[in-house]
Amino acid sequence: MDKKIEFSELTEDDPIIFEDGRSLTFEIVPDEGVSIDDYDCYGRIVRTGHDASRPKDFDGNAEIIDRNRWEVAWWQPPNDIKRGDANFSRLRSIVEDILGYGFVGYVVSLKCPHGGVIDQEGLWAMEPFLSHELESEIVAELASVLMDRVSKEECCHG
Ligand SMILES: [Zn+2]
Repeated sequence: MDKKIEFSELTEDDPIIFEDGRSLTFEIVPDEGVSIDDYDCYGRIVRTGHDASRPKDFDGNAEIIDRNRWEVAWWQPPNDIKRGDANFSRLRSIVEDILGYGFVGYVVSLKCPHGGVIDQEGLWAMEPFLSHELESEIVAELASVLMDRVSKEECCHG
């Protein structure tokens, strides 16, 4: 493998194509396997009807974070994040993104010249909109793990 290749330049729109015709692609795909309720770090979400008041085990730090025609979503931030903290609005916006778009998986695939997938490396349960810097760091790491694992001769046909 050509060590000069910058895996961090791999994006969804720009696959890396090698001289032997194989290519590395990156995709962000929905991760249906996890929910925000699986993680304490985002606080807690409880959905109620429009006429329902704050859930009784939520405190004054809680707020309505999302609403649709049928229900509202109350958000109780984690205990260590108080309203007014610098992190509060940042976390609030991440939670909104997760509620709106769900978690995603980052998948880097090595494809043979026929377009078949030779091997993949993925990272799951990712927040939907990471910074570009963080995104390219992760993509580079996935690509590098993947390319260390596969040998030059491999093809989708085995
Ligand atoms: Zn093939």
